[in-house]
Amino acid sequence: MDGAGSGSRQDAEVAVVGAGLCGVAAVVALRRAGVHGVVVLERSGRLGGTWRDNTYPGCGCDVPSMLYEYSFAPHPWSRCFAGRSEILGYLETTAARYGVDEAIRYDTEVTRADWEPDAHRWILETTTGTYTARALVVATGSWHRPRVPDIPGLDAFPGPSFHSARWDHDVDLTGRRVSVVGTGASTVQFLPEIQPVAAHVDVFQSTPQWVLPKPDFPLSPGLHRFLGRHPAARRALRGLHHRTQEAISVPLRRPRLLRPLEAVARLHLRASVADRELRRALSPGYRLGARRLITSDTYYPALTRPNVRLRPTRAAAVEGSHVIGADGTRTRADVIVLATGYHVGDMPLARRLHGTGGVPLARKWSDDRRAYLGTSVSGYPNLFLLIGPNVLSGTTAVPTVLEAQLRYITAALTHLRTGGHAALDVRPEVEESHHEALREALRTTVYSTDASGYYFGLPGVNTFSWPWSTARLLRRLHSFAPDAYTWTPPGGPPAQVRRAGDASPAPGPLRP
Ligand SMILES: Cc1cc2nc3c(=O)[nH]c(=O)nc-3n(C[C@H](O)[C@H](O)[C@H](O)COP(=O)(O)OP(=O)(O)OC[C@H]3O[C@@H](n4cnc5c(N)ncnc54)[C@H](O)[C@@H]3O)c2cc1C
Repeated sequence: MDGAGSGSRQDAEVAVVGAGLCGVAAVVALRRAGVHGVVVLERSGRLGGTWRDNTYPGCGCDVPSMLYEYSFAPHPWSRCFAGRSEILGYLETTAARYGVDEAIRYDTEVTRADWEPDAHRWILETTTGTYTARALVVATGSWHRPRVPDIPGLDAFPGPSFHSARWDHDVDLTGRRVSVVGTGASTVQFLPEIQPVAAHVDVFQSTPQWVLPKPDFPLSPGLHRFLGRHPAARRALRGLHHRTQEAISVPLRRPRLLRPLEAVARLHLRASVADRELRRALSPGYRLGARRLITSDTYYPALTRPNVRLRPTRAAAVEGSHVIGADGTRTRADVIVLATGYHVGDMPLARRLHGTGGVPLARKWSDDRRAYLGTSVSGYPNLFLLIGPNVLSGTTAVPTVLEAQLRYITAALTHLRTGGHAALDVRPEVEESHHEALREALRTTVYSTDASGYYFGLPGVNTFSWPWSTARLLRRLHSFAPDAYTWTPPGGPPAQVRRAGDASPAPGPLRP
């Protein structure tokens, strides 16, 4: 890093925006690939992103923890599905161990980013000064912005109300009547935690969820000692988890195979809820996988407790201390918790990021979010997205795709450096043909069957799902193809300098 103290202009080789799961891994990967001068710009005073911000009771991961870790930093998880504080601790410890901390500029929000075509650099305006970088890695998160519903009268509610993603721990729920709006993944995690303390909980459900069993149990120190002594056994176990997740995603891509999985979810419901009417209210009317898959062994039992009532209706309004259901019911509440999810895949930075010709990325993405392999966007040279649009299946663990993307990005940057190029930009026709194939393949998956669901980041457009196997994405990302890009020599116009098929293998996986 060149440059001095805050307020001045500082020059970096690579700027990473965001110090969450992805930003931390990016620093490790870039340094391992020999890229130095990496700076991470983080708007908060602490790293961790999702796991820093989401503090609701019961918050944790819903893929096996062994998949929710970096391959270069195996961790002796205390449970099969770790909770939020253990994940946050893991991210902080890993960042400290790999010296990532020193690259992070905390309390530094990127307010504007412009591609400067003459200098072939990104110019970043931040709340603490200007940075420039040869390449920009966006790691600002896809589950960052809570979705707050517009419920008439909510502003005048006399008691406390808050979004589950920004849990207000000053509000003591003991002995209170709580109305929960929404039945997504967060409610499934926090309802079993708040039910024992609240006097009464009303759960407003506009759409029932498919819920699969969650085999969560503590992992003993003895097991970890064994796995520590036998790394091959740990790798095998990790591989088994990965293959199980992948196997579950097969019917999501081929809905005619969904029946056995739906039968498992129905059996789970029947085994957990004796009341026929409640079971009926909890039975989804759409195919499993059309919305985010949910796993839990504690949600259904919590709903059967005497102090919990499922309201199978949308919360349409608030009048004084009452939540009014779309079915006309009036429910008195002391506290309202909005568990209405996130603007999934929304990237606020896209409104601040200007590529060739000064076009904001949000404008290019106004009708669809196109990105080649979810990573490169035509017209935005030397820009790389982590967990960009359409890279996840319904069951993929984010770190799996993240690490493959980082291999791809480091291969691209190595090519840039060794080839003496100033910039790379994915060719528009490559981006377009990838996008068309993706849209076509998505048509027959279950992910496209509910346009009001989780995967549709824009009206009528699934901006989330990868329609093929994760193995296919990993293969595509493993082999960086220079001919997919135009390459700009220093001081010159863009040129296609590669022969077709001139693919460089990405550097090896991020292992010690
Ligand atoms: C409750 C919850 C549970 C999840 N569980 C799982 C799971 O079990 N399995 C799974 O695979 N995935 C899960 N995910 C999804 C995903 O793995 C996490 O969201 C993960 O933390 C994403 O990491 P990230 O680094 O991309 O983004 P984030 O964790 O969101 O971090 C982004 C960072 O960027 C910073 N930032 C944003 N804008 C700016 C700006 N303009 N300037 C500077 N800094 C900025 C933010 O402050 C933040 O620190 C879950 C998500 C949520 C919300």
